[in-house]
Amino acid sequence: MEKKNIDWSNLGFGYVQTEQRFVANFKNGQWDAGGLTTNATIEMNECACVLQYAQTCFEGLKAYTTADGHIVCFRPDLNAARMAESCRRMRMPVFPEDKFVEAVVETVRANAAYVPPYGSGATLYIRPFMFGIDPIIGVKPANEYQFRIFTTPVGPYFKGGVKPLTLRISDLDRAAPKGTGHIKAGLNYAMSLYNIVDAHEQGYDENVYVDSATRTHIEETGGANIIFITKDGKLVTPKSDTILPSITRRSLLQVAKDYLNLEVEERPVALSEIGEFAECGLCGTAAVISPVGKIVDHGKEIRYAGMGPVIQKLYDTLRGIQMGTVPAPAGWIQVIE
Ligand SMILES: *Cc1c(COP(=O)(O)O)cnc(C)c1O
Repeated sequence: MEKKNIDWSNLGFGYVQTEQRFVANFKNGQWDAGGLTTNATIEMNECACVLQYAQTCFEGLKAYTTADGHIVCFRPDLNAARMAESCRRMRMPVFPEDKFVEAVVETVRANAAYVPPYGSGATLYIRPFMFGIDPIIGVKPANEYQFRIFTTPVGPYFKGGVKPLTLRISDLDRAAPKGTGHIKAGLNYAMSLYNIVDAHEQGYDENVYVDSATRTHIEETGGANIIFITKDGKLVTPKSDTILPSITRRSLLQVAKDYLNLEVEERPVALSEIGEFAECGLCGTAAVISPVGKIVDHGKEIRYAGMGPVIQKLYDTLRGIQMGTVPAPAGWIQVIE
């Protein structure tokens, strides 16, 4: 298969339209068979539920080329399960989990020419999403839905080396207790946009959200979970019902335990104790782990080692598992071709 003529190592994180996308429609209480289309444009009524009441959720994962030349993706079954959770919380019909994985495989295979070669650092980002599409004006869930998957090639996350992030403790919230912080809904992002622009204007890379009930515990950033490493090499990550359950974070905890013999603690993390940690990182599909250099808490600066020794080891091991140079736990790598 002939690869597209793309300058892989200079790609950014932006939308590049690829040839095929998957579309399935839910009508009269059931999903149709769904299939691929070249049409990237969605036509819908002005009163579509998604436009009026933001009834939509999404997922994000990546396909890439391994050291031995296979196209694979990482734990798509967990994305399927998480999207099912999001749909249930949003009163949307679940797209069957096995069909979700099949549709991911089918969409990536159809866009294989856009999967960046091994060693380029670039990947094919996969975006499954669902939305209520029929006209709804009284507040209630839609009757009809569309499920889609598109793909877009994205560049290496750490272009020109790793620059540790500077974060600030946020005064605004992203998730209410008993709210929707634990599901991947667009609405969680809509309300974070003001704050991320403000953070950038003030010279910060990201906002760290605290629990909105007591403002005493660390939760996560706008789009990534957070991990800390203690001075004696233990991995600590916040536990809370309002954190989005990152697949990368869950995988890193298992890597820490089973590959690196580290102690792992998932527990509430107080804002008052974050100065005691040695290393800090953000984890998510995009970067695996982004090292944090500094968290600023209202003028008080807390410094971390950036890409410190433990975060480096976690990163290298999980990247190695994904790229096929380190043996993967059973079921983690879905081979596409
Ligand atoms: C998607 C997301 C993450 C990262 O999850 P991964 O499954 O690791 O990509 C973390 N936090 C939020 C708020 C997210 O939406």
